[in-house]
Amino acid sequence: GELGTEQNGLIISHFGKQVDVEALEGDTQGAIVRCHLRTHLGQLVTGDRVIWRRSPDGGVVVAVLPRHNQLQRPNNHGELKPVAANIDQIVITLAPEPRAHANLIDRYLIACERSEIEPVLLLNKTDLITPENKVWLDPMLALYRQIGYRILEASTTEQSGLTELKALLNGRISVFVGQSGVGKSSLINALLPGIDLKVGGLSEQSGKGKHTTTTARLFHMPDGGDLIDSPGIREFGLWHMHEDEVLEGFIEFRPFIGHCRFRDCKHLQEPGCALMGAVDKGEISEQRFKSYRMILNSMQETL
Ligand code: GDP
Ligand code: ZN
Repeated sequence: GELGTEQNGLIISHFGKQVDVEALEGDTQGAIVRCHLRTHLGQLVTGDRVIWRRSPDGGVVVAVLPRHNQLQRPNNHGELKPVAANIDQIVITLAPEPRAHANLIDRYLIACERSEIEPVLLLNKTDLITPENKVWLDPMLALYRQIGYRILEASTTEQSGLTELKALLNGRISVFVGQSGVGKSSLINALLPGIDLKVGGLSEQSGKGKHTTTTARLFHMPDGGDLIDSPGIREFGLWHMHEDEVLEGFIEFRPFIGHCRFRDCKHLQEPGCALMGAVDKGEISEQRFKSYRMILNSMQETL
């Protein structure tokens, strides 16, 4: 009967051994059902596509479809654990105020590249652009544009740029990341009327620097497209990464990798380094190369 029919679902939230599944077909399409998991399925997360069926006490997930990608975060034991799956794009949000730091943006970009998720840069708070901050903002954005990244602009205060942003989000699953205070909560509130995230607050993180335990949740936007959000995900990119991933995350360095004189070149001070040669010739920006070294150094300090 109906109870046993296997059907497609989408995990919109996960809690330990249970998940909330949205029905994607049938007359209950759109319904959200708390489900148990069959054993051996591993850890299922928000964004996973599943096969499930109803059971007397809710539902049971019987299979998971292959993931296109996943955001992983280290747990307290340093093991990488998935926190969200099947994300189409990551919107790296920045602003004139608090001042955007290229080094931080580069970390987010590395994290996107390692997860194989397309990054898009979003300059929010365009109403705060002044002749003073244009001096550093314009060259910063020009550099990312030149490398090939897409850049959108918006102001939640002035409600500008939201049409273009909605068009970008339509039909895809997206995540917002970026430094605290750049306006992520304000943007999500503007895109999801009724969600009402606290703006300008530490509320969701308890404000005491504790690890946040709030699970990631998937939201449908009224104009099309989905957002996956949690306080933890907004800090994605600051999680641990490997040295190789850092290098590969600087996508314009790639043509030069493998052309250094020494095979084990760390691109720090070795003679015949192809990367440093490219910087000297202006083929790689000095700013990005400095940023690469800064990230590597900061990793060595924490080892
Ligand atoms: P989050 O930490 O990235 O989630 O940032 P919030 O959404 O909490 O916003 C931080 C502060 O920036 C709040 O005081 C917002 O009212 C303000 N803010 C958000 N968007 C804009 C904007 O477009 N222009 C201006 N001037 N302020 C904004
Ligand atoms: Zn080198």
